[in-house]
Amino acid sequence: MTPQDVLKMIKEKNIKMVDMRFMDFPGLWQHFSIPAGELDEGNFEDGYGFDGSSIRGWQPIHASDMIVIPDPVTARIDPFFQEPTLVLICDIADPVTREAYSRDPRHIAKKAEAYLKSSGIGDTAYIGPEAEFFVFDDIRFESKSNRASYAIDSVEGIWNTNRDEGPNLGYKPRHKEGYFPVPPMDKFQDLRTEMVLVLQDLGIDIEAQHHEVATAGQCEIDMRFKPLLQMADQLMWFKYVLKNVAYRHNRTVTFMPKPLFEDNGSGMHTHISIWKEGNPLFAGDKYAGLSQMGLYAIGGILKHARAICAFSNPTTNSYKRLVPGFEAPVNLAYSSRNRSAAIRIPMYSASPKAKRIEFRTPDPSCNGYLSFSACLMAVIDGIENKIDPGDPLDKDIYGLPPEELALIPSAPGSLDEALQALSDDSDFLRKGDVFTDDAIEMWINYKTQKEINPVKLRPHPHEFMLY
Ligand code: GLU
Ligand code: MG
Ligand code: MG
Repeated sequence: MTPQDVLKMIKEKNIKMVDMRFMDFPGLWQHFSIPAGELDEGNFEDGYGFDGSSIRGWQPIHASDMIVIPDPVTARIDPFFQEPTLVLICDIADPVTREAYSRDPRHIAKKAEAYLKSSGIGDTAYIGPEAEFFVFDDIRFESKSNRASYAIDSVEGIWNTNRDEGPNLGYKPRHKEGYFPVPPMDKFQDLRTEMVLVLQDLGIDIEAQHHEVATAGQCEIDMRFKPLLQMADQLMWFKYVLKNVAYRHNRTVTFMPKPLFEDNGSGMHTHISIWKEGNPLFAGDKYAGLSQMGLYAIGGILKHARAICAFSNPTTNSYKRLVPGFEAPVNLAYSSRNRSAAIRIPMYSASPKAKRIEFRTPDPSCNGYLSFSACLMAVIDGIENKIDPGDPLDKDIYGLPPEELALIPSAPGSLDEALQALSDDSDFLRKGDVFTDDAIEMWINYKTQKEINPVKLRPHPHEFMLY
């Protein structure tokens, strides 16, 4: 799509509004709209001004002017607005120098892709995220008397999908039993189908949808793999569509990694492969059908995993998921098929084109642009420095004796630890200026001040029970 194509599309589809979308540093979409007739070719170069100081993690108040520059290839018609509205995803730039903004996650993803090309290793990094999520009833639609039982239900981790009664345990999957009986146990088939149809209308390829392991309402919808930047853009649409379809039905979708105590959390296993001139580079005759390059890629991810977590598992809640016993990986090891290892090499298909590594640590609270870029930079580092991943671990890690377990490095235990790991190990990210010093420092400061400290300082509901 060129700017001319976009203008043509506006005429043909009788578009009334053009909605500019861009993300804040943590990864939520922001937007403003202009009447469709106001958009001309020049706007694709000059952009639109906005106040960068009001966006989380961005400019200080004394240097707040910024511009957004719409990217014509991202044009899509919004499925939710009443009037035909075209959405354009935008890049962020400085109004004076016109330089791309170093904290713009989309810019970081573009630089990571460019760095892969310049390294000569390959030309395309394909990413396939499996984003899991929970669907909850939206309590704003509950009557007051229901709300109290709601609070109790949520503390127990039992969510009632029948609004008029107390907890209804008929046809309700118990904790960790949601994968995956047919209805009436699974009550979300129609909702997921509606989500899938809207995503497909937007041109997003979907491979499967299903209920997940946790009790009623944990679901997964899988997108077909795409190049890194395209997938990061798509992930923004994905979250937007799921939340808005749920909202139509008085429900809420959350990508919070661990909303329910003692039940499975939501991961976003991230499948990664590198291709050159149409050929997959991770397929070969080594362990689990990998190439030597694929093994080095694993070496890179395992070496830098603790630092990557600062981006791939970027919330205080992320670390409530990374505990033993819930199919979430804790130990930084690799294996074919073993779901307790941080990296799995899926064996479903013998085709070299399907050969990829599955990094299971990330969760869907991440900003996809930053998480995918950090993973790719670790993969590149592994390949460039021929990092040996060591031996695979083909045992159930959860069942290992403590002495053996102690020898396997583990994921950070908290967001503080992940940020510390990032500050100790960031050279692999800084290559090619993909993550600038400013972006890394700001990430650590933002996460510490705006998330870790406020959570730490608040009395926890469980402390009332204890004390
Ligand atoms: N929900 C699990 C996680 O937290 C993953 C379950 C699965 O293997 O799909 O990663
Ligand atoms: Mg899953
Ligand atoms: Mg998986």
